[in-house]
Amino acid sequence: MNHARSPLRLRVYIGAVVAGGIATFVVAWHASAGQALLGRVPAAVCVFVALLIVAEFNPLVLHGANEMAFTASLLFSFALLLVAPPVTCIGASIICSMGVEFAKRRPPVRVVFNSASLSIALGVAALLFRAVHDPTYLLAHPASAVWLTACVLVALVALVLNLLLTGGAMALSRGRQFRLVLRDMVDLSTAMEGLLLMMAPVFALVAVHGLAMVPMLALGAWAIYRSARVALSHRHDATHDPLTGLANRRMFAEDATQQVRDAERAERPLALLHLDLDNFKEINDQFGHAVGDLVLVEVADRLRANRLSEDLVARLGGDEFVVLIHGAEADGRRAAQNALTTLNAPFDVEGVPISIQGSFGVALFPDHGSTVPELLHSSDVAMYRAKTSHAGVHLYDEGVDRFGPTKLGLLGELTRAMNEEELFLLYQTQVDLKTGLITGAEALVRWEHPLRGLLQPTTFIPAAEQTDLVHSLTAYVLRIAAEQGAAWVAAGHPIQVAVNVSARNLHDLAFPDKVATILAECGLDPRLLEIEITENAVLTDPARTAVVLERLRSLGVGISIDDFGTGYSSLATLRSLPIDRLKIDRSFVSDMMTSPEDATIVRSIIELAQNLGIGTVAEGVENRAIATALQRLSCDTAQGYLVSHPSRAEDITPILDRPVRALVETTLAAAV
Ligand code: C2E
Ligand code: CA
Ligand code: CA
Repeated sequence: MNHARSPLRLRVYIGAVVAGGIATFVVAWHASAGQALLGRVPAAVCVFVALLIVAEFNPLVLHGANEMAFTASLLFSFALLLVAPPVTCIGASIICSMGVEFAKRRPPVRVVFNSASLSIALGVAALLFRAVHDPTYLLAHPASAVWLTACVLVALVALVLNLLLTGGAMALSRGRQFRLVLRDMVDLSTAMEGLLLMMAPVFALVAVHGLAMVPMLALGAWAIYRSARVALSHRHDATHDPLTGLANRRMFAEDATQQVRDAERAERPLALLHLDLDNFKEINDQFGHAVGDLVLVEVADRLRANRLSEDLVARLGGDEFVVLIHGAEADGRRAAQNALTTLNAPFDVEGVPISIQGSFGVALFPDHGSTVPELLHSSDVAMYRAKTSHAGVHLYDEGVDRFGPTKLGLLGELTRAMNEEELFLLYQTQVDLKTGLITGAEALVRWEHPLRGLLQPTTFIPAAEQTDLVHSLTAYVLRIAAEQGAAWVAAGHPIQVAVNVSARNLHDLAFPDKVATILAECGLDPRLLEIEITENAVLTDPARTAVVLERLRSLGVGISIDDFGTGYSSLATLRSLPIDRLKIDRSFVSDMMTSPEDATIVRSIIELAQNLGIGTVAEGVENRAIATALQRLSCDTAQGYLVSHPSRAEDITPILDRPVRALVETTLAAAV
């Protein structure tokens, strides 16, 4: 890899350019010997120097992948070159540029390097010009075609030399191919610079023969410069986020694609960090959008301040940011951790300290994706994991999330499977532990795959949950379950159907409306639908989830927390959410007769639910002993193999109207 060697090569290169700059200056000095420093028309020289200073202080800054500034100063340097001795032209240009760069606290190496390359470009141009044309020509003659041609050619030489020298340094410092750096540099701004440069002969001519008209000409140049500014700012607007000034999704995709190509060629690793703020919605809700905006701007500033020169930082939208860095796993983790540390320092928003937490997902090139969309996908998956696990930073996990060929293939087939109705639902009944009556049924999806046979949900649901496919999957399941629920109502069995939904559904603010539409179309009373959510899905984005759940609740839909006891939710979260029931995880229930710890957990959950005034469903009720114990603990509902295995709807319908015998017997046993 040439990456590691570049610092030395860069130093040698800078040294060579500085030496070249000094040498050119010395040669120019000699070539200027015996000439008045201000040339034959001192007033013109003074005017150009003044214009040079004005131009240097009014750069156009382009926030691209590589931030570049463009000024009209080369125009006036070149005009000086045509009316003054070389040493004056070079000296004035260098002093102006150095002054501005030092004022902006640019690193001294950069200031010296830029001055040296300016010295070379202008010096070579001046000497070349003198070699092909008499420098005093203008004083006695009007502009001839030969003079003009010489001017244009020499101007091009200056422009190209400047470009090549700067490009060389950028290529070495960023470890990119010279050709690619040049291609990035030669764009709209170079065209503008070239266009302005072509005005230098006109400036020189006017200054020598009619100095009073220079202001008019300057106005013309100013007009070109203004239109360049407008054109560039239009382009800037289309590619940048107006709030934070960071690259937007489009620009990120373009720049990152380029970096991925470069990295591929140079066999270098890249790491994509995907940041999502954890509590941004709360901040927006509590302090208003204006404060939310300030926070986003501050986050952007901190990410920008943290980055290295070649890193790309972008805002994808909302509170989502990405940073593409050069490096492998360790670098990615370190960069993400550093960024989190900077974000942890409280934000001072109009005197109020606000604290921000974020979660970073990290995906590596080429391991976790070879294109930008693939990397974005992987980093998004990792970011979701970072959130659910509260890890702060999570590296894309090949074992768990890897869209290996099989899983990816399966996901690719999922849409077809829904269209061809290869997916179907089994229902597992839920029984009231007091009466032994069936009060509900949980819908559990299955996939009858044409080649692989019957697939259990665990083989395709976790992968689908990482993608937007889960939206159509949940809608599909909801529709079938709602139709079945309505059919049971029509048959005189108004039981509640329960449907499992994923974290992504709960973060979709349009989800409640989708549910309402499906219920209306199927003609099912919302109270006969229950949605099952997991604790961790809630914790991923509690504020957004709360909004979605409240809306579902206002429709009348029931809400239960699935697998309760296995997650990390706090009492505070539980109390703040509109929950109807806790479903005690089957791992505790099925072992409660043999493990006193599990028995304690089950009892505590039931007590907790009673204190909160919500219901309990025990999952994994496999035998009568468990059912009896649950009845003693006043658990409300049982679900498990004792009552029934997940079964086809038609197999359940006949048993809906009679009490479950196994439970009636245990009811008696419990009463004893
Ligand atoms: P879950 O929501 O916890 O569903 C209960 C699982 O426990 C079911 O497995 C069921 O067959 C099994 N089970 C029921 N009673 C007993 C018992 O007495 N003993 C034991 N050992 N197991 C019992 P299944 O059907 O394989 O579903 C697995 C998971 O897949 C579900 O866990 C749920 O998280 C997910 N899932 C199933 N259908 C859907 C769906 O339509 N959408 C989503 N998002 N997830 C689904
Ligand atoms: Ca469930
Ligand atoms: Ca469960």
